[in-house]
Amino acid sequence: MQPICQLEVEPSATDDNRAMKPPEAGQSTFVTHLECSKTGERHEAGQVHGLSRAGAPLLVRYDLGALSETLKIADLAMRPPDIWRYREMLPVRNPENIVSLGETMTPLLHTSRLGGKNVFIKDEGRLPTGSFKARGLCMAVSMAKELGLSRLAIPTNGNAGAAMAAYARRAGMEAFVFCPDDTPEINMREIALQGAKVWRVNGLITDCGKIVRQGINPAGWFDASTLKEPYRIEGKKTMGLELAEQLGWQLPDAIFYPTGGGTGLIGMVKAFDELEEIGWIGSKRPRMIAVQASGCAPIVKAFESGADHAEFWEDARTVAAGIRVPAAMGDFLILEGIRKTGGFATAVDDSAIDDARRQVANLEGILLCPEGAATYAAYLKELKKGRITRKDSVILFNCATGLKYPMPAVDDSLDHNQPVDYQALI
Ligand SMILES: *Cc1c(COP(=O)(O)O)cnc(C)c1O
Repeated sequence: MQPICQLEVEPSATDDNRAMKPPEAGQSTFVTHLECSKTGERHEAGQVHGLSRAGAPLLVRYDLGALSETLKIADLAMRPPDIWRYREMLPVRNPENIVSLGETMTPLLHTSRLGGKNVFIKDEGRLPTGSFKARGLCMAVSMAKELGLSRLAIPTNGNAGAAMAAYARRAGMEAFVFCPDDTPEINMREIALQGAKVWRVNGLITDCGKIVRQGINPAGWFDASTLKEPYRIEGKKTMGLELAEQLGWQLPDAIFYPTGGGTGLIGMVKAFDELEEIGWIGSKRPRMIAVQASGCAPIVKAFESGADHAEFWEDARTVAAGIRVPAAMGDFLILEGIRKTGGFATAVDDSAIDDARRQVANLEGILLCPEGAATYAAYLKELKKGRITRKDSVILFNCATGLKYPMPAVDDSLDHNQPVDYQALI
């Protein structure tokens, strides 16, 4: 039925995509297959997959040769500033399956008072649900729609659950969300309000993951855990594509990334490799620097001991909930990404995170989330240690809006009935 009254609105990115020529089978994307990240075994595209047959994350592979014949840098100029401008490099086959809440490109903010002259903050807090989890879950839910799934479950420290709930409901799907019991209250509430069923679990995210995994058969849901489904990584890959485009296809010297499950770090490394293969960038790579909290630093420990896999981190604790991940499914991929780019892993204390958050807000007017603040704390630490210099161009990732997190109390007040001592105010 036609709506009686239609408002005139700007066409959204999704509408725009819908207006594209209808996809001939397989031609709206260049996906060839999915590849096991451990064994390289091929898995067929267009089917529901979790982990590979060898129990490792699956990576989406594209016909990059054909893609580079079709897509040119100049084509991007005509497209809306959102993640779907890179649609040929993304897995959704039929644009009608795109589930969108407006996945805008995020600003790359140049700073001048944080140490070096080339320090940029990539502010991901502008995305739907206020965090970069929107990139991954937008892709996962769009692919779930394409593959005919309708009931999704996820273990989360907060932001991933919020993003999944929002996109699942946008697509008319059911969402089941399991959070450690100290997940920030605001996350619990946004998840619930966005129509998901959400529970606090008296354990860590790994315990929540177990509940989701064991529920696959009895509850009939699809497990949307980080890296246990193949498409969140493709969504996070857009951070790397976007960064490269914003910097004129010249990559920076280093990227500080707050690393929990590591999807973003792995996704960006994949993005850069694909961009080189289609000839849009050269062989220079930013050093990928995994930032963790001292109270939960399995990747740092593995990096420093030369291991390929990380051990489970006992008694994980930090104010930066998004990086409180004691065991990461893709640990070996994170370590590989760090090592092959000449990067490293480093840990910072909660007190340094709090200080960094205060400093960046005060010096630059940018309110970071604790995980984003951890990247600045790590930058300062590494300047001192000498693994980074002031000359290096660096990107600090602020993964969520600072407004979602507790802030120090304010006690100052004025009595408007009394004379004001203005000298005391300034
Ligand atoms: C999830 C999350 C992270 C960690 O991202 P990964 O790509 O999973 O390592 C960092 N910060 C915030 C705010 C997050 O929500």
